[in-house]
Amino acid sequence: MSYVLHRNLTAELPAIVSGDGNYLIDETGRRYLDACGGAAVSCLGHDNPKVRAAIKEQVDKIAFAHTGLFTNQPAETLAEFLVKHAPKGTGDGRVMYLGSGSEAMEAALKLARQYYLERGEPARSKVIARMPSYHGNTLGALATGGHTGRRAPFQPLLMDVSHIDAAYAYRMQKDGESEAQFALRAANLLEERILELGKDEVMAFVAEPIVGASLGTQPAPKGYFKRIREICDTYGVLLIADEVMSGMGRTGTLFALEHEGICADITTMAKGLGAGYQPIAAVLASEKVISQMQAGSGTLWNGHTYMSHAIATAGALAVQQVIENDNLLANVQERGAQLETALISAFDTHENVGNIRGRGLFWSIEFVADRTTKKPFPPARAIAPRLKTDMLARGIITYPSQGCIDGTNGDHMLLAPSYTSTVEEIELIVSELTQAVAHVLET
Ligand code: PMP
Repeated sequence: MSYVLHRNLTAELPAIVSGDGNYLIDETGRRYLDACGGAAVSCLGHDNPKVRAAIKEQVDKIAFAHTGLFTNQPAETLAEFLVKHAPKGTGDGRVMYLGSGSEAMEAALKLARQYYLERGEPARSKVIARMPSYHGNTLGALATGGHTGRRAPFQPLLMDVSHIDAAYAYRMQKDGESEAQFALRAANLLEERILELGKDEVMAFVAEPIVGASLGTQPAPKGYFKRIREICDTYGVLLIADEVMSGMGRTGTLFALEHEGICADITTMAKGLGAGYQPIAAVLASEKVISQMQAGSGTLWNGHTYMSHAIATAGALAVQQVIENDNLLANVQERGAQLETALISAFDTHENVGNIRGRGLFWSIEFVADRTTKKPFPPARAIAPRLKTDMLARGIITYPSQGCIDGTNGDHMLLAPSYTSTVEEIELIVSELTQAVAHVLET
């Protein structure tokens, strides 16, 4: 009998007791290869000695002192690292630490609102985001996200956020339309929406550089974010990049937006920041935002008790040092290329695989009932959840999701293996997935 309130109120879940590299081990000694890192969290496996040592060392120094009065060394060193490694154009930004991706998204929205109040533009309060997308489960983050299933029960509680279509190439790009044309058309939806809502009333545009949980690792078409940046600059709208899932090396660069050659005004990050060793998230505000606040009230109008927690920041600092010192971004690129090739070779001509997409060690497969019409499977066939169960029976943890835009898109399987993945582990993941797909599609 479990007294913990799990997502499933009736299931008896195995208890995890330890980690061994990229494997989790349960109380019966069963081993699971973690091919998704929870939800793209565990990017250094589950027993990294340097991260564990850094956390233990910090426990023996100091855990908590209120950030209203004090700072601490790991928080400062990590913030400097994040600012200095942020996409060019961020300038002398500042970092705020929080406990989860959702909290970081809430804080980012409040920061944007503060920025406009400090500028003397109180009419700016409207937020534009994308459909589909996922920005978290607290009310502000849920309202911002475009995940219809997760929003539906709480709709009456959600603030009004306007959604434009995400640049979902597989289903949105028209026949004969080039990538550049599609990128422009998809980005220009933002301009149209700003003009509809009132160009002096829009505060922020929120987007994941690579859509994660709602859609399955959808990168933007080339040129999309350049045009988005231009539109935001033209209308004075802040660009908030949600790098909670895509950030901290997952796509082969520290921030996924680096790949697009632009920088955001506010960036959130979480999962790969602490790699699961500590619960931690961060908001990086660019110099543009910070200088406005410095020239104005000189204060931050937001606060949480555990901001800048020294054990959490010490853990995350060690994670970032391991990624840098062990040159793990190179491994993300190499193992990512291996994963891409293996997925394409296993599934590219499969009659029920509509699309394979991703970047770095962040890949997804979208399954369809019919490749020609792109018709999804009926939700009742539960392809993605059954695949997850089948893979788990094979000792591999994967991340499934089912259509989140009113049944118009289908089942996905998301893979986000650790940055420390070996050649053999990637081979094993794809060979077991090939068998699991064949098995699940039989029924
Ligand atoms: N933003 C994105 C892009 C996410 O993928 C998630 C979590 N899947 C969140 C925000 C919310 O993070 P958390 O679950 O830590 O609150």
